[in-house]
Amino acid sequence: MVTFLAGGTGTPKLLSGADDVFPPAETVVVGNTGDDVELGGLLVCPDVDTVLFLDGGVLDRETWWGIDGDSTATHDELKRLADAAGLAAEPRYLPPERQTAGREIARWRRFSGVGEFMLIGDRDRAVHLTRTSLIDEGRTLTEAIERLAAAFGVERTVLPMSDDPVATLLHTPDGTMHFQEFWVGRGGEPTVEDVEFRGAATAEPTDAVLTALSDRVVIGPSNPVTSIGPFRALPGVERALESTTVVAVSPFVEDRVFSGPAAKLMRATGQEASTAGVADAYPFADAFVLDEDDGTRLDCPVVRTDTRMDDEADAARVARAVAEALEVA
Ligand code: GDP
Repeated sequence: MVTFLAGGTGTPKLLSGADDVFPPAETVVVGNTGDDVELGGLLVCPDVDTVLFLDGGVLDRETWWGIDGDSTATHDELKRLADAAGLAAEPRYLPPERQTAGREIARWRRFSGVGEFMLIGDRDRAVHLTRTSLIDEGRTLTEAIERLAAAFGVERTVLPMSDDPVATLLHTPDGTMHFQEFWVGRGGEPTVEDVEFRGAATAEPTDAVLTALSDRVVIGPSNPVTSIGPFRALPGVERALESTTVVAVSPFVEDRVFSGPAAKLMRATGQEASTAGVADAYPFADAFVLDEDDGTRLDCPVVRTDTRMDDEADAARVARAVAEALEVA
């Protein structure tokens, strides 16, 4: 078995063409849940869902989130109602005392559904409704996701990193905001002074996750701060990563990032925004896959290939490089 750690874009991209090298039945994906929010009472798990939708063959591969061709009737009506009612369609947090009331898993990241600041498609919403209802029936997040994986015919084992709440909160000059307010609500614009994974110190990785971490681990191209950071902040995970073989694919070509806020968030947390910074951030990594144009020198084995992934053939090439790196690690 091989275990992949996943944010919402880089690792799913890699998995999209990896089946010949890493057969789905022999891979486990552990998804980041720090980006999750409760929106209008529904628990939305963007990173885990991208993997479910990818393997279920329904992912929108333009955006790498949501269901391809999904309608947005409910979302559109939520916007229209908010507008007609004179209520702004910006991220609208529930009051502070409501942030820690109700479902444990949704602590510190509860938003009102008024105006719905994230675009949730109609079929996508049915997934969130099913997941949230399964949790309300008494199941864990892991169990709820296992049922959803069955519904989408997913062969891979898809696990949330924890059944406990962990909320990725960014401290900015305008105050503290959840990662989704920063990224979706404000287009990644606010200055970030610090990043907090609220709940992580007392959250636990599940037994299934700890078992998965005893196998070889692949960190696909990921945002080291907000996709891998929450996971590493869980007690026991860092030690588990040190004890096993870990291969990481750089989300940079030297200091050039492919997409997303990784560079900004690395700088905000005092790290160098580059492949060298990623290597410093992952002292437990035993080998790296770097782009062929990336001349960064690392003191562990490196496999180089063209790491840009625009289609499944690209992903298959990077997957072969990962397999090679696992051999030399
Ligand atoms: P999320 O989308 O914010 O959840 O982020 P991820 O943790 O999945 O991180 C995406 C990271 O992957 C970004 O830092 C990108 O630079 C990187 N990335 C995106 N596309 C590619 C690609 O085609 N190749 C490589 N090597 N990295 C990529």
